[in-house]
Amino acid sequence: MRLDGKVALVTGAASGIGKRIAEVYADNGAAVAIADLNLDGANAAASEIAKKGGKAIGIRMDVTSEQEVDDGVAAVVRQLGSVDILVSNAGIQIVNPIEKFPYADWKKLMTIHVDGAFLTTRACLRQMYARGKGGAIIYMGSVHSKEASKLKAPYVAAKHALIGLAKVVAKEGAEHGVRANVICPGFVRTPLVEKQIPEQAKELGISEDDVVRKVMLKDTVDGEFTTVDDVAACALFFAGFETNALTGQSLVVSHGWFMQ
Ligand code: NAD
Repeated sequence: MRLDGKVALVTGAASGIGKRIAEVYADNGAAVAIADLNLDGANAAASEIAKKGGKAIGIRMDVTSEQEVDDGVAAVVRQLGSVDILVSNAGIQIVNPIEKFPYADWKKLMTIHVDGAFLTTRACLRQMYARGKGGAIIYMGSVHSKEASKLKAPYVAAKHALIGLAKVVAKEGAEHGVRANVICPGFVRTPLVEKQIPEQAKELGISEDDVVRKVMLKDTVDGEFTTVDDVAACALFFAGFETNALTGQSLVVSHGWFMQ
């Protein structure tokens, strides 16, 4: 599945999963906009792609800011010509039991994941509808779009919400040739997960090794983390799958942790 001639905007792509998706898209012919709060990281990721012969730009974008999202999407269209693929991926994790969860942290997490997905979707759909050439919107969900874990109330709620949003985009977007999907990874060893290991160990009163073996990877079929390559391969598949056959669907990528 090649993406020649397509332009992809990937949010939260200065690090982790988003960064790898941007690289794989560029390797497969897309021009890529790497949008992140961290502009230096976004520019560094873009220049790594350029060194390998790909086309990429870094864009500073806080996905919770209506202005920055609208301006950022307009800048991508100005510099790269269109937006054909959006990967709404920017995200954070905050763990706490519900009774101790500060409301400010609840709102921060919900805003980045849910409002960020809405704002980037709206800005990209406007461009896609106006251009009339369709497109693909891909949300980074999680196994937590389908399943719950202790300590993760806003994350689980937000990741479930993305499935609802994707289904609406699939219905509204169809007449414009726009498809929507959700990728639902298991644990991937990115900075987001590295940070959680000591936090969960403290909260659950167990060792960091036990957090990895007995909490994170307990139900996988092979005791393995999902990799950024596993997730990027799915993101390439959804971006390149041209018909409406799969629109509105979500795909769990978790080494068997969660099976539907
Ligand atoms: P990461 O911490 O490596 O990268 C997240 C990126 O998002 C960072 O570059 C950060 O600067 C950026 N970001 C944070 N807030 C932002 C904002 N307001 N605006 C723009 N950018 C912002 O994390 P990751 O593990 O690669 O996570 C990426 C996505 O994958 C998240 O949505 C996460 O929930 C999801 N996910 C991760 C895992 C996992 O195990 N790592 C599993 C399932 C789903």
